[in-house]
Amino acid sequence: MAETKRDYYEVLGVDRNADDAAIKSAYRKLAKKYHPDMNPGDKEAEQKFKEASEAYAVLSDADKRRKYDQFGHAAFEQGGGGAGGFGGFDFNGADMGDIFGDIFGDIFGGGRSRRNSNGPMRGADLRASVRITFEESVTGCDKELELTLKDECETCHGTGAKPGTTPQTCPKCGGKGQVVYTQQSLFGMVQNVRPCPDCNGTGKIIKDKCPNCYGTGYTASKKKIAVTIPAGIDNGQSIRIRGKGEPGTNGGPRGDLLVEVVVSRHPIFQRQDIDIFSTVPISFPVAALGGTIRIKTVDGEVEYDVKPGTQTDTRVRLRGKGMPSLRNKNVRGDHYVTLVVEVPTTLSHGAKEALKEYDRENGNTLNQKTESGAKPKKKGFMDKLKENLEDL
Ligand SMILES: [Zn+2]
Ligand SMILES: [Zn+2]
Repeated sequence: MAETKRDYYEVLGVDRNADDAAIKSAYRKLAKKYHPDMNPGDKEAEQKFKEASEAYAVLSDADKRRKYDQFGHAAFEQGGGGAGGFGGFDFNGADMGDIFGDIFGDIFGGGRSRRNSNGPMRGADLRASVRITFEESVTGCDKELELTLKDECETCHGTGAKPGTTPQTCPKCGGKGQVVYTQQSLFGMVQNVRPCPDCNGTGKIIKDKCPNCYGTGYTASKKKIAVTIPAGIDNGQSIRIRGKGEPGTNGGPRGDLLVEVVVSRHPIFQRQDIDIFSTVPISFPVAALGGTIRIKTVDGEVEYDVKPGTQTDTRVRLRGKGMPSLRNKNVRGDHYVTLVVEVPTTLSHGAKEALKEYDRENGNTLNQKTESGAKPKKKGFMDKLKENLEDL
């Protein structure tokens, strides 16, 4: 060997009594730091990554570690074929797939979820949505959805094989459903675990396909599903219906159905958390003199006594007239009503006269500008025209 190799414990920065967890954690840190994907083109990082990987491959394996402790690097030098670096020991024989799956799974999001793909797996969740009215969100309601759901094929019981035949173990992956690719690259061996391309990760090859499901193992049919929507549900919230998702594989349970509730907008009511907001117009006399008005709430109309002298945009609270809480429908929010004083846009002759009379009684604002000596407003074209006509 041309170069002197660093001590494996030194490489990982652990002491000689370090336990497996400490070794793994030390390697994880170094691998993250020096991985070539994180340091493109950095030869030094590449070298460090190689060195750490080699140290980890030895120290994480009880047998190899014992040999290394006893003989040092010499333990792996025979039969190395002069390749150096990784060539010094049997990298392929080790469970490097596991090591990389374990350590790099969280770094690169690598195929950990697929690792047990030939064991029982829960089916995927399905999503659907249902539209309800605002009123239905207040009271809660029952809805029926029609969905196309997959079921295990009754002819082949989900195997996908023609009755009387059985699926065969995939020869490419030996039934594991995944294959380990070993790539020789600049920095040594890289191993990737991928779903088997021959069997699509199922671990089985179906020669004679079931005629009922065309080998998929599933049949699809329209199903009616009852959804109970609780009182107080808000727009965008979802209801989980257990076991109505995709069927599981290899005996795994079905996934769930998630039903998103879309609440239609209401012409009057707006919701915020468990409170309701609305705007109610009141007439000027009611605002000035006070009076009883009727206000629409989700419980129907309620009477409300407007106090004399109420200003426009006054907000009143109707306690307990808001939305029910989703957790406890006996708990309810409030309904906030904004009272808006309306200015009439059309007035009868009598009403106009009464209003002028009111104004004379109450400050004479209509004639204020001339009396107070303020400049008369600039006359418009029409006013001048009128004056001219009167002059004629
Ligand atoms: Zn079938
Ligand atoms: Zn396969």
